[in-house]
Amino acid sequence: DEVIVPDLTFVATANAVMYAGAKPVFVDAEASTWNIDTEKITAAITKKTKAIIPVHLYGHPCDMDTIMKVAREHNLLVIEDAAEAHGAEYKGKKVGSIGNVGCFSFYGNKIITTGEGGMCVTNDEKLAKRMHFLKDHAMDKERKYFHPEIGYNFRMTNVQAAIGLAQLEQIEKFIAAKRKNAVIYNSLLKGVKGLTLQQEMPWAKSVYWMHSMLVEDDFGRSRDELVKLLKAEGVDTRPFFYPMHQLPMYGNLHGDKEFPVASELARKGINLPSSAKLSEQDIRYVCNAIKKIKGEKT
Ligand SMILES: *Cc1c(COP(=O)(O)O)cnc(C)c1O
Repeated sequence: DEVIVPDLTFVATANAVMYAGAKPVFVDAEASTWNIDTEKITAAITKKTKAIIPVHLYGHPCDMDTIMKVAREHNLLVIEDAAEAHGAEYKGKKVGSIGNVGCFSFYGNKIITTGEGGMCVTNDEKLAKRMHFLKDHAMDKERKYFHPEIGYNFRMTNVQAAIGLAQLEQIEKFIAAKRKNAVIYNSLLKGVKGLTLQQEMPWAKSVYWMHSMLVEDDFGRSRDELVKLLKAEGVDTRPFFYPMHQLPMYGNLHGDKEFPVASELARKGINLPSSAKLSEQDIRYVCNAIKKIKGEKT
């Protein structure tokens, strides 16, 4: 079986496909949202394709209408990787509720957290039952300790669930803070030559899991130089994810297929401090440090 996965994502998306014994087929990113390029999906579909996993990267929703249309035409399942996008909306609909299954992470750095853990959601009764079964060592619901197949321990503890419910009570506050901080970042960095700021599509409500930008060649410093110089100013940042095709275990899956957009985004992309707790003063400090670093060069 083959499953379509964006080339630019966190490695867990591709690994999940491998765990299931299938092969991830990577599709390039699009320059505007940094998500899977929906126009390149059809070309990646073969007779073996079973599903598409769109990833709402850094909290910005994918173009779900196009993805659902392609899936319908080719009889494919859609599994939304909403690990970074709790509460993000596509045309007013919450991401994770559009495909057959939606997956959320509650890792420590996600929009809401239970320390570790996550959640799958579905409207499909059969799939829900199947997931309950697999997560609990695939134990037969009628026959105690009879296991008709090999399952997993993917359970969360009640303690984690309690933390998760308390986090959920605050999610609107976290999202509002992240959206407000995006406005501040964008207004402070707007005029800086050589930076491409994050966009929000008119049909999208992003939750800005990460405040991100691209360091273009005319910034005067490379992305990696900027990371280092910001660190010296006391500002911690992250480079974008490596594209999947550049990782050792996925490098030779695709022959000489190229992923120019994902490669370029990965080379230029930087995640700035993104906590919901950032103050306007914190953001000013970060943006001034960026401007100072650029000024020193030019
Ligand atoms: C964090 C993340 C995951 C994995 O979530 P875990 O809870 O760490 O398993 C999967 N996909 C994406 C896009 C992520 O960012």
